[in-house]
Amino acid sequence: MSVTEHKVVVGATPHAEGDRIMQICNACRYCEGFCAVFPSMARRLTFSEADISYLANLCHNCGACYYACQYAPPHEFLVNVPRTFAEVRKETYKNYAWPKPMGALYDRNGLATALVTTLAVCAFLVGVFQMVSPAMLWGAHSGPGSFYKVIPHNTMVGIFGAAMAFVILAFVMGFRQFWADMEEKMGDFASPSTFWEAMWNVLTLKYLDGGGEGCTYPDEKPSFTRRTFHHLTFYGFMLCFAATTVGTFKHYILGWIAPYSLGSLTVVLGTLGGIGLLIGPAGLLWLKHKADPMLKDAKQRGMDDGFLALLFLTSLTGFLLLFVRETSWMGLTLTIHLGVVLGLFLMLPYGKFVHAIYRFAALVRYALERRRPNTNASFE
Ligand code: SF4
Ligand code: SF4
Repeated sequence: MSVTEHKVVVGATPHAEGDRIMQICNACRYCEGFCAVFPSMARRLTFSEADISYLANLCHNCGACYYACQYAPPHEFLVNVPRTFAEVRKETYKNYAWPKPMGALYDRNGLATALVTTLAVCAFLVGVFQMVSPAMLWGAHSGPGSFYKVIPHNTMVGIFGAAMAFVILAFVMGFRQFWADMEEKMGDFASPSTFWEAMWNVLTLKYLDGGGEGCTYPDEKPSFTRRTFHHLTFYGFMLCFAATTVGTFKHYILGWIAPYSLGSLTVVLGTLGGIGLLIGPAGLLWLKHKADPMLKDAKQRGMDDGFLALLFLTSLTGFLLLFVRETSWMGLTLTIHLGVVLGLFLMLPYGKFVHAIYRFAALVRYALERRRPNTNASFE
């Protein structure tokens, strides 16, 4: 049997394979200190589909348990937790997608991301070429309101406000179903101590430190490289979000109209965030392509690459806009940038971004479980 095969039961669903492997791990328990997955596993004697989805979303694919495992391929037990859980996570994203039929976008996610982004850019280009005079589009504008000579402020707010409302609704619906399937109460999710414990674990990427010496990714040697790139991506995204929030406050509360000066808080936050969104996604892409194929689900390459490429492109077009904003290229660059951002928004609920929602929910549940008596296991 090839070492690249990792399913004992040919045709087993990812959840069934996850169940099989967890039964073996629960008898072995060698990896108890590696991450949150194994203490949670040890609280159970049997594993429902919701349990397997929960455990899979606690796993961040570091590979430590694969490299440590005496039952990993070529052993006949073929235990491969990281790859199996990667497959389960994709099923989770599909199952909890809202509206449900949109879950199909996960099957060819790279193609879907490319198509949606291309269509969004084309829609913006067609709209601008139809509605804006060539003199206005190709003119060099400066000062407050120059962007809105090409695309009116209300049009931007209408398009992105509607897209954001839909994205938030899709996230809420997916999360609600995920949380309900785990048979947890909604009130417990908002319990301050567990919520902040999970939030702290997210903000510090606690489980990407491999217990202190770095995680075994992209290969067996421990390293903090993945955590560094992940942090750059996460905080880059949050800084760009903060820049947009500050800009909105200035527009509506202070009456200060964009574009803002290079030294303004909005531009500084956006620039720092943009740098994070160039280096972080590029680094994660590089690591993913170097990573041990045994850890990965090859079918998800398009989803991973598509999301990271879209983040990179959003930042790149944002910087281009910053450089050309007082030249005749501003109109075209702004149009393309907004098209890319719209593509990113529309694919947020149907791409890799959703791992943030389900992993956070899983971490909150883990924090809740840690506060409950453990009747099944001797370790925590
Ligand atoms: S991954 Fe392997 S070594 Fe680790 S608990 Fe499971 S069976 Fe044991
Ligand atoms: S791959 Fe890493 S995070 Fe996932 S279960 Fe194994 S040790 Fe835990």
